[in-house]
Amino acid sequence: MVKGAVFLKANYPFEIKDFDIPAIENNSLLVKVSMSNICGSDLHFWKGEVKIPTPIILGHEAVGRIEKLGKRNRDMMGNKVKEGDKVIYKYFYHCNHCYPCSLGDYTACENRVALGVNQRCDIYPYLNGAMAEYIYLRGENIFLKVPEDISDEEVSSANCALATIIQALYRGNLSFGDNVIVMGAGALGLYACSFSKALGAKVLCLDLSDYRLKSAEIFGADVTINSSSYDQEDLIRDVRKRFGDMGADVVIGLTGSPKLVDLGLRMLRKGGRFIEVGTISDNSYGSLDFGRMVYSSQKIITSLNYESWCLVKALRFIERYRDRYPFKDMVSHKFELSKIDEAFKVADSRKARRVAIIP
Ligand SMILES: [Zn+2]
Ligand SMILES: [Zn+2]
Repeated sequence: MVKGAVFLKANYPFEIKDFDIPAIENNSLLVKVSMSNICGSDLHFWKGEVKIPTPIILGHEAVGRIEKLGKRNRDMMGNKVKEGDKVIYKYFYHCNHCYPCSLGDYTACENRVALGVNQRCDIYPYLNGAMAEYIYLRGENIFLKVPEDISDEEVSSANCALATIIQALYRGNLSFGDNVIVMGAGALGLYACSFSKALGAKVLCLDLSDYRLKSAEIFGADVTINSSSYDQEDLIRDVRKRFGDMGADVVIGLTGSPKLVDLGLRMLRKGGRFIEVGTISDNSYGSLDFGRMVYSSQKIITSLNYESWCLVKALRFIERYRDRYPFKDMVSHKFELSKIDEAFKVADSRKARRVAIIP
C-alpha cells in the first residue's frame, strides 16, 4: 500500500488514503515521486475556479525515479533507462483520433488525458497524480531521463511551467532582439524572463509584488516595474518609453486576469503579438478595444500546455543555463504529503515561488 493525497472538492481538506500499486504492464512504468509542485492550475482546482472530476490525486508538475519498468527501456530521446533513474514526464497525452489531432494540433485534442488534472483516483490505475508516493505512467506518457547532477529543485518545474512557457514563446514567434513584456512574475513569469533573455530579448517584467519582482531580476528581467504604484495611463507611457515609444514586440500574459489583456495590447507595438497563457478559469471575461487592435494589426495568440519537443528543450535549457539562473531557488517551500493543506495555503499567498510536496 502507498499513500496519496485525495482531493474531494473545493475548499475542503485533502484526505491521505492508501492505494494498491497496480501491475506494471506493457509500456507503463511506476515512478516514485520525489518532488511534486503546486502549480497555478492546482490552485484554481483547489479553489473551485476550474471544475475537475473527483475524487482525484492532484499533482502534475513533478520529478521522480523509476521504481518499476515495463517493456520500455528507453526514454523519448533513445537514452537507455533502468529502475532507479531520475525522470521527468509529459503528464498528458492526446488521443490521436479526433479532428484536432488529425490536423496535428495536439494541444487542442478533444480527449486529452492529463494525470493530476482529469483522471480520477477511484478508476484504474488509481495512482493518477503526483501528490502521492508513486505515480503510474502509461505507455502514452513520454518521459525523459534527467542527468544525476541536476537536482529535483532545478528540474521539478520543467514538465509544466517551463515547457508551457517554451511552447508559448515559440507560438508567439519570439525572435532575437525582440522587446518582451512579461506580465506576472510567478514561476511561469520567471521562466519567461530567463528563456526570452536566452533567446536574445530585452525583458521588462510587471507585477504587483516586490517579492516576486526581485526574483524576476535574478531570473533575467532587464527592467522590473511594480504596477501597483502606477496610474494605468502613466504605466503605459512609462513602459512604451523604455522601448523607444513604439511598444513591445511581444507581451506574454501570465497573470490569469483577462481584464489585463487590453492593458497588454496598449503596451504592444503595431503588429506585435500578445500571448495569453495564464487565464484558464471558467467564465474569464474581459473587454478590449477590437478596433484599436485591428487597426494596429496586432495578434492575440493563446497557448495551452505544450507539445512533446518542449519537454526536451526545457531539460536542455536547465542543463545549459543553470550556471546563469538559480533554477534550484524556484522551489521556495517544501512540505511533507501530510501537510498538503498548509502547503496549498502558502502557495496561494503570493509570497512563494514554487511550493513543493515531498511525498
Ligand atoms: Zn501546471
Ligand atoms: Zn485527440
